[in-house]
Amino acid sequence: MADCIFCRIARHEVPSSVVYEDEHVIAFMDIMPAKKGHLLVVPKAHYGALFDVPAPLLAKTAAVLQRCARGVRRGLTAEGLNVLQSNGSAAGQVVDHVHFHIIPRRLGDGLRLDWDHETYAPNEMASFAAKIKEGCEAERSDA
Ligand code: 5GP
Ligand code: ZN
Repeated sequence: MADCIFCRIARHEVPSSVVYEDEHVIAFMDIMPAKKGHLLVVPKAHYGALFDVPAPLLAKTAAVLQRCARGVRRGLTAEGLNVLQSNGSAAGQVVDHVHFHIIPRRLGDGLRLDWDHETYAPNEMASFAAKIKEGCEAERSDA
């Protein structure tokens, strides 16, 4: 997409600090890191969200994601890391080109990802599970 910032980064029209790149996937430093070393792993082709990515490309992206996660662990001697991925503005997605965040972590680093827990009424979990199961069955894998 012409004016998508991640498409433009993938085409090297906009500068970024690239740490890995191949024909299909690019990984570059996030300019507003949650923690220093925060990385984005992005399929080069424009797909808005996880739902849209063809499974073979998603598999390639996942392989790069794992390699970069290992790279962050080794290169920064990270004690842990979070992989985050948001779909839709309701979920906090800001850039409308599917991407995975890798955020290096250290014990006691103060980054807050904690959320309050909801509790199910009796049988409510089973009802949610049944609806999701139905949804999964109605979707077909494009692998
Ligand atoms: P989202 O909130 O959509 O999951 O994450 C988008 C991420 O992209 C944010 O963490 C933001 O800092 C990063 N970002 C936005 N614009 C640019 C840019 O022009 N260059 C780089 N390297 N990162 C960007
Ligand atoms: Zn794009």
